[in-house]
Formats: sequence, C-alpha cells, structure tokens
Amino acid sequence: MTKKSPVWSVIKNWLIIGTAVVGFSYLSDHVNHKRNQGATETIYSQKNISVLEDIIKEEKHFLKDVPEMSAANYLSEDEAVRIFDQQIKKNLTDFLKINDFENPKICSKYGDSANIMMATITGLGLLGLFCFAFLHVLDLCALSKKGKQLFKEKNYATLLNTGMNTAAVLTLAVLLFDVPYGELNKSMYNTVSRKVIINYQNTDCLKINNPEKLAMTLTHEITHHLQELNGMSRTSNVIREGHSMGVARYLGKELYEKTGNPDFLVALDYELRSFVTVYLDLCKEFNVEPNTGLIEGIKTTELESHSLGISLFAIKEKQYGAEIYSEVLKGNNSSLLSNNN
Ligand SMILES: [Zn+2]
Repeated sequence: MTKKSPVWSVIKNWLIIGTAVVGFSYLSDHVNHKRNQGATETIYSQKNISVLEDIIKEEKHFLKDVPEMSAANYLSEDEAVRIFDQQIKKNLTDFLKINDFENPKICSKYGDSANIMMATITGLGLLGLFCFAFLHVLDLCALSKKGKQLFKEKNYATLLNTGMNTAAVLTLAVLLFDVPYGELNKSMYNTVSRKVIINYQNTDCLKINNPEKLAMTLTHEITHHLQELNGMSRTSNVIREGHSMGVARYLGKELYEKTGNPDFLVALDYELRSFVTVYLDLCKEFNVEPNTGLIEGIKTTELESHSLGISLFAIKEKQYGAEIYSEVLKGNNSSLLSNNN
C-alpha cells in the first residue's frame, strides 16, 4: 500500500496560500495605484523640487522658535474631547466652510466591537501562521528515517493535515481582511462603524501623552469622518490622509499662535520628515543633486499615503492657499491636482 507523500500536502498548502497572497496583493495594489495615480502624478513633477525646498526652509525656520513640547504624562480622553469641542471645532467648521456637525462616536482601542473582532481575527491568524510553520517543520521531519518511525501512525497524519488546512484558512482570513498587526496600534477612523478609535501613539510611533496632543489626533480622525460624510470614501488614500493631516496642521498652528502651547504642533516633526522624504525621492527621480545642507540632520520616514499626501497638500496650499481644504471636501480636486505651478 502506498501512502501519499507529506511533501505533496506541504506544496499544495503553500501553493494555495501563495496564489491567494499574490492575487490579493496584486488586486489591492492595482486598485490603490489607480486611485492614487492623479495624486502621485501631480507630486512627481520636477518643478516641485524647489517648492519643497522652500517648504522645508520655512518649516525649519518656524520650528526654530517653537519651545519643547511638554513631557507631562497626563491623559484624559474627556478633556481631549472638551478641548476639541471648545477650542477646535468652531475653527474646523469655519475653515472647511461647513455647518456644525455631531461628533462621531469616539472610543478607546479595545472599547469598540469592530476592533475586538479585528484583533481576534489577527490573533487567530498569527496563531495559524505559527502553527503552519511549526507543522511544516514537523512534516519535513517526518521525511527523515527517524521521523518516519515517529510519525507513521495514521492518526497523526490526519491531524497534521487538518492542522495545516486550518492554519492555511486562518492565514488567508487575515490576509484577506488586510489587518496587519501594526494597524491596530494606531488611532484610526473606522469607515464601516463610523467611529473614531483612539490610541496613544501616532503614525510615527510618537507618544500621545497629554490631552492637547490627543485633541490634535482627534482633529485628524474627525476630519476623516467629515470626508466620509461628504462622499470622499472612494477618494485616493493619498488625498484623504493629506487632507486630514493638512487640516490638523493648519488648525494646530493657529492654536499654537493663540495659546503658545507647542503640544498643538504634535505632528510637525513628522510632517517635516515627510517633506524631506518626498523631496529626496523627487531628486532621485529627476536626477537632481539634493541640497544636503538644507536637510542635514532630518530623519526620513516611509514613502506612503501620509507622507505623500501632506507633501501634495503643502505644495498646493502654497500655490492656491488654504481654500484647497474646503474645495477638496466638497469634491473639487481641480486646484489640488492641477499641473500648472
Ligand atoms: Zn488618517
């Protein structure tokens, strides 16, 4: 009697997972690329190299006089919401030229059922991945002479196969739900439940340690809520992130001028790093020697929707003014995506 080789079951499972991963990432890349095409094409123009140099210069000049942010570790969600309601909300509606609105539901990371579900799926998926790798090793061990003796019992083979298939299915579930573990550690706006989920760490792992900083995070996430209410959910994520960041950046600077509290500028350092990152990539793209003196000592960040988005908005804000934020919210992207600067 011949027994099916365990090698086949290993190959079969990896084939299923491999095909699904490649297919899924190809599809989502394709969709993202299509959605972001207009935004990236606008950014990747040689003329923007000098515009970004000016922006970096101005930002450095501005930051020079800003005092250190407070290191105080005092957090109160209620107070952050109060700061948003009393000091930010009116400026936000004026700035975006919209009517007063009801705040979305705001909850802590694990207080939201959608997040508990996502965390559970992610946890199970990670467990599945681990089991899969573990069983894979066991399966290969079973090929050796010694292993064959150890694992020749029929029950074990069945168990092995069931385990591997379960692991494969769970892994697929995670990949298809697209919830990489890191995403769970950020503040976010859940477009399905229309809730703001807060966490005390920013995109660049900066700790949010007081109500003023948290109020700025809320401003960013609540802007995503306004985008959703205004039909921007299918807009490119470069535009959505750039818009949210730009709005919070503008209002944060305004509040800083008024109160002198640097905690309202919580994202400024990350934004400067974004400008430098996009600047360097543009220089590379057009074979231009970057101004090393200008960017000396500034760390770069990842080139993704936040860094690209805020750079796009900063470039166009320079050309068209802060009007672009209310225009984009109303669905008018003509200034933002124009190519004549
Ligand atoms: Zn965002």
